[in-house]
Amino acid sequence: MAKYSAFAIARQAIGWHEGWERAWRSPQPKSRYKVVIVGAGGHGLATAYYLAKNHGITDVAVVEKGWLGGGNTGRNTTIIRSNYLQDSSAAIYELARGLYEDLSQKLNFNIMFSPRGVLMLGQTEHEMRAWARTWHANRCNGIESELVTPAQGKKIVPMINLDGPRYPVLGGLWQPRGGTARHDAVAWGYARAASDLGVDIIQQCEVTAIDRNGPGGAVSAIRTTRGEIACDKLCIVVAGHSGVLAEMAGFRLPVECVALQALVSEPVKPMIDCVVMANTVHGYLSQSDKGELVIGGGADGFNNYTQRGSFQHIEETVRALIETFPPVSRLRQLRQWGGIVDMTGDRSPIIGKTPVEGIYINCGWGTGGFKAIPGSGWCTAATIAQGAPDAVAAPFGLERFSEGRMIDESIAAAVAH
Ligand SMILES: Cc1cc2nc3c(=O)[nH]c(=O)nc-3n(C[C@H](O)[C@H](O)[C@H](O)COP(=O)(O)OP(=O)(O)OC[C@H]3O[C@@H](n4cnc5c(N)ncnc54)[C@H](O)[C@@H]3O)c2cc1C
Repeated sequence: MAKYSAFAIARQAIGWHEGWERAWRSPQPKSRYKVVIVGAGGHGLATAYYLAKNHGITDVAVVEKGWLGGGNTGRNTTIIRSNYLQDSSAAIYELARGLYEDLSQKLNFNIMFSPRGVLMLGQTEHEMRAWARTWHANRCNGIESELVTPAQGKKIVPMINLDGPRYPVLGGLWQPRGGTARHDAVAWGYARAASDLGVDIIQQCEVTAIDRNGPGGAVSAIRTTRGEIACDKLCIVVAGHSGVLAEMAGFRLPVECVALQALVSEPVKPMIDCVVMANTVHGYLSQSDKGELVIGGGADGFNNYTQRGSFQHIEETVRALIETFPPVSRLRQLRQWGGIVDMTGDRSPIIGKTPVEGIYINCGWGTGGFKAIPGSGWCTAATIAQGAPDAVAAPFGLERFSEGRMIDESIAAAVAH
């Protein structure tokens, strides 16, 4: 695939930009692959890319029922940070954050990583104690974060009202190298680079059944809307549909699905240059390069598979935010949408083998998996290639639920669930 560069842009400009080749191939599915990955979201595509790049396994297909990046990856509010509480979480999220730093160069695709800083406000004594604990844990894990005073918070986000009617700002946890990236570009960048290495990305191909005719009931093939595809190994990376795919394979997962919604305002001149999260009141915001305020809130309070927004959610989220960010009250809201996220009880992901020989799983990222995409893909690929989890993935195995080895991130996951 031709390299993207300033020279390529100049060359294409002469030809009225009509000579650009497609960013990834759209091949017909083969009858067999060594590895099939279900789900072309960020995690599935990153897994495919690192399988090819780090382990030389290129006989890989990524099958996607819609269009790549059309699930949660293309619907999220793009916050990237690694200031989690538990050691194993810090390891995987910091691996991911570190990989994000030069991902544009590695993929030769501008993912617009913007380490503009993430401020998580403390608006109750309880929350401040939790942030203090997380800050100490971050220091032990070598993650740069700071506990800030209200005055320092006001300096970082001048539009904050420190003395809100219900919840005054008591301080916050600041991660200066956290930030955002362009969500579609992350999916597109991994897709293009994986396709270039020989991975087949097959869109409009829904998996409808999983066959287990291998020795001892091992996986043998998937059935799809585009025919049967045999495989040696299968990795299920379908976020909000993980339980559905697990059921096809004959095992159960401790996840539940809920809609998570977001909205954007009309575009305005620069008013905030970092990401700020007010978790007590269920709201967070940042400003996109187009000038829109990107706003997210808490997850729906009931299980559902609806992939759309609801009016009551706009009202709830904006009402909560204007207490702390009064200028938001004067903005018209432009668009709203939802994604289906898969939540585990300890708010940590599941990565690793399943009870079915040859089937691997990557799910349970809940409301916060975008930030983890590079790290998750990196260690899921290693797990598939070696047939056993690597050191970073090991704590996140499915067996932790039967062994009672929870990785409790209900505080540091930071969005109210
Ligand atoms: C509104 C919202 C805001 C969020 N904000 C943030 C944030 O700021 N920061 C953050 O870190 N995370 C955030 N998240 C979470 C993040 O988006 C997800 O954790 C992450 O994108 C999950 O990626 P994925 O690749 O696992 O899943 P997805 O991107 O959902 O990809 C899974 C794919 O599987 C496909 N699929 C499903 N069933 C089948 C089938 N039977 N056959 C074939 N394909 C199938 C789907 O079509 C989909 O494309 C947010 C999520 C939402 C919804």
